[in-house]
Amino acid sequence: MDFTRELVRIPSVNPPGSCYLECADAIDVRLQAWGLDVQRLEAPGRPGRPNVLGDLTLGRPGPTVHLNGHFDVVPPGEGWTVDPFGAEVRGDRLYGRGACDMKAGLACAAFVARCVGRSGVDLAGRIQVSGTVDEESGGLAGVGALVDAGVIGAHSVDYAIIPEPFSPHRICVGHRGVLWSAVRALGRTAHGSMPHLGRSAIDDLVAFLHAVRRDLAPKLEKVRTEMPVEPEGSRVASINVNGLVGGQGVVDSQSPCVADAAEAIFDRRFLLEEDIATVRAELPEVAARLAESEPGRTYQVEERLCVLPVQAPEDSPLLEALEEGIQEVLGRSPDRVASPGTYDQKHFARGGVRHCVAYGPGRLELAHQPDEWVSLHDMRRATEVMAYALCRLLRVD
Ligand SMILES: [Zn+2]
Repeated sequence: MDFTRELVRIPSVNPPGSCYLECADAIDVRLQAWGLDVQRLEAPGRPGRPNVLGDLTLGRPGPTVHLNGHFDVVPPGEGWTVDPFGAEVRGDRLYGRGACDMKAGLACAAFVARCVGRSGVDLAGRIQVSGTVDEESGGLAGVGALVDAGVIGAHSVDYAIIPEPFSPHRICVGHRGVLWSAVRALGRTAHGSMPHLGRSAIDDLVAFLHAVRRDLAPKLEKVRTEMPVEPEGSRVASINVNGLVGGQGVVDSQSPCVADAAEAIFDRRFLLEEDIATVRAELPEVAARLAESEPGRTYQVEERLCVLPVQAPEDSPLLEALEEGIQEVLGRSPDRVASPGTYDQKHFARGGVRHCVAYGPGRLELAHQPDEWVSLHDMRRATEVMAYALCRLLRVD
């Protein structure tokens, strides 16, 4: 708990990525004190965003279990009744931005390494603990950088646990995919008092939005996944407009002009069962159809981000070990869930680490909320479950 409080008191807020060095130092010092060999790694061209990697070798050769937590947190926002960086403890609850997502998880992971390392149980292999940056903004300079540098990969990591807040009885086996696309309508400007002399890109973009809502969205709602995504409403494919901008925007000072450009960002969430090529073709098809139906309509579709869906193998020894741990520690049957949004598992998958799940203390609903908190009881239970799973995976038979 002390380590979690120490981390919560450091406002490592992303964006912009403040206090990263201070937070990395705290993790570095703690991992060393708990017996791990520590190194730091920054993504090329991203100074001031250090990732911390601790290694604990267990005497003889065996598998590597990697425990990864991001130490960036989202901005506190409004509506707090406690100090977001005070790490106040009231009863069973530790309050603060990042308490649940996911400084408690990271602290528990480090503590697991310490306890398992000192347990005296005959184990083989290696435990790694990493504290990484930028998960909240895509993780490219964080876990992504460790993958790019070859530190995390199929050759070096056998099992990975990301202690994101999924509650101590639930294991998150993976996530859906995401495709962000920018759609730009191109018009022709003219004086706003004579709009017939121009072509409004805003009108053309509205036609596009309407076509997506009318033709594409209802089809997507019928595509269901077998993955146990929570909440259940997210077990279908979906599309959302994250933002749009057109013409001069809504600013105080205006001049009368027909908008010659308007752009929207589409956020398409796709499923393990969907074909990425088909998903990628959807918006260009809408654009082509609309352009054909009315001369003068011009659209550009540009891909901004693509993350493939991932899922740990159903018979993964990692899942078995955690499930046994949950049964043993909590005395109840475990639940498997999947996440509607992506997290750092995508980077592990890119590096070829198939046996990766998210498992950790805290409730997902509290992440990014005002008065975020984590239950101390949950922290203890998740720590025990992880320790059990590690002993199971690393034991000498
Ligand atoms: Zn998180």
